Amino acid sequence: MNDASDHGSGNAHKNFIEIEIEKDFASKQELVGRTVYTRFPPEPNGYLHIGHAKSICLNFGLAKTYGGHCNLRFDDTNPTKESEEYVNSIKTDVNWLGFQWDKLLYASDYFEQLHDWACQLIREGIAFVCDLNADEMREHRGTLTQPGRNSPYRDRSIEENLDLFARMKKGEFPDGAKTLRAKIDMASPNLNLRDPVLYRIMHAHHHRTGDAWCIYPMYDWAHGQSDSIEGITHSICTLEFEDHRPLYDWFCKTLRIYHPRQMEFARMNLTYTVMSKRKLLQLVQENHVSGWDDPRMPTISGLRRRGYTPESLRMFCERIGVARFSSTIDVVVLEGSVRDHLNTIAPRFMAVLDPIKVVLTNYPEGQTEWMDAVNNPEDPSGGSRQIPFTRELYIEREDFMETPPSKFFRLKPAGEVRLRYGYVIQCNEVVKDAEGNILELRCTFDPTTKSGSPTAIERKVKGTIHWVSASESAEVEVRLYDRLFLSENPEDAPAGKTFLDNINPNSIRVVRAKVEPEVAKQLPGAKVQFERNGYFCADVVDSKPGVPVYNRIVSLKDAWARMTTRDNKA
Ligand code: ATP
Ligand code: MG
Repeated sequence: MNDASDHGSGNAHKNFIEIEIEKDFASKQELVGRTVYTRFPPEPNGYLHIGHAKSICLNFGLAKTYGGHCNLRFDDTNPTKESEEYVNSIKTDVNWLGFQWDKLLYASDYFEQLHDWACQLIREGIAFVCDLNADEMREHRGTLTQPGRNSPYRDRSIEENLDLFARMKKGEFPDGAKTLRAKIDMASPNLNLRDPVLYRIMHAHHHRTGDAWCIYPMYDWAHGQSDSIEGITHSICTLEFEDHRPLYDWFCKTLRIYHPRQMEFARMNLTYTVMSKRKLLQLVQENHVSGWDDPRMPTISGLRRRGYTPESLRMFCERIGVARFSSTIDVVVLEGSVRDHLNTIAPRFMAVLDPIKVVLTNYPEGQTEWMDAVNNPEDPSGGSRQIPFTRELYIEREDFMETPPSKFFRLKPAGEVRLRYGYVIQCNEVVKDAEGNILELRCTFDPTTKSGSPTAIERKVKGTIHWVSASESAEVEVRLYDRLFLSENPEDAPAGKTFLDNINPNSIRVVRAKVEPEVAKQLPGAKVQFERNGYFCADVVDSKPGVPVYNRIVSLKDAWARMTTRDNKA
């Protein structure tokens, strides 16, 4: 999972990027007196997802580890897809994850400089204005096995190129009519070096520069130079840019500007989800989810709303490590991280998601006992609270079976079970309606078994279940989420189908739960454990004062593990 374990003793906990960075600082003259400088460079064309969280943790984390800096730089070179809404959401998400950028910058801050550099290349005879359209250009480019052919416009004079480029900038030509290209090598085995496009014409309004420009730089022309201007020492990106590195290097060298080092790591993939912004946008636009922050989305805003904590996401990124080989992480690793964090901080409550009534026939009517319940066994300073115990209670429907298998240690006819923080009860009668549906369970309690009392300890009962008082409980809406997709790799759809065909039609189930009174008083955003049921978060969007709506963040164990161990735990 983490390649850190492969390294020699001194580097035991370092990833390959840290090792390379340390080597660079120890050996490279141009780094003397400098500190690590990284950047996180999102394109503001969507909300960030969990894959971005990995890149954020890596880039900001390296700056922190080495006492350096990390910029947040928006790669805003594609005006038709970008917006201020996305810019703002990205800033919020980076801060929420716990990181502060050194400088907040935009590739568009450098449009003027990038333009000047393009003119420099034209004057040096290594860039030209090309009239080929997209199809023709593709056709000239060749393939991996066949060299490309020079554009017929490649030998335009410097004067003509300067003039045409100036007129492109002035807006004299329609979209797509011309491009500015670097003159490198149409026979290069690396397709990125076959006279790459530097500028295209796009009469589009930009969210920051407005209508000032109608030519926009390509990613490759903007990225390395932006890194260079900012003095980035290590420009870390995902593996699909490995083939762009020669071009990154070529631009820095040819322009004779400061030359950062580009390094690549493997993109993170996660099972049971999709992670490209384009697909996430499609889920939003076609209303398969309620928005970018739908609690089922792998976006940072979705995970936040679901109830994930910044600590849990950082822990997740730490656990999966940084590698150069592509890998798909099992979503249970993500779920495990939030479970581990919430285990330490979430107060415990009892909530019955699928209630069935229990009447304690030998318990006095109208009596309420206040039972002492520990708020968080993992947190000694967490204290305790009092929960009401009454004659009529609710237990979980699945905690009773009329004809149970032999290893069933919960409630059954004539069987005994312990009510957590309460008494041992025995089931004497199952009351049903005409259709055979269970209406209530008539039970007796044993007064000598009150939780915490000396006599209670002698009594051996195999199962312990949770409950709430019927008369002194509240009712809340609870949203039980399942995975948004049915298959491990939703993109792996049969011919004629798409990832949308793999959507889980039952990814949300809404129930009304009976809960301890305290549960109804929680504020939006509160994260709690419902004992034996999982971790839940009071939804920040749909909760009203005094009327929280709960999202299930994650169950206590993954479903498979729970099936085998749940009944054995008292
Ligand atoms: P997507 O394809 O999901 O839209 P992107 O790479 O186009 O992602 P950018 O906004 O360009 O999104 O990404 C910003 C940074 O986050 C880049 O450095 C990119 O490499 C990194 N990043 C994006 N997705 C992942 C991922 N799944 N794992 C790790 N890093 C990622
Ligand atoms: Mg992108």
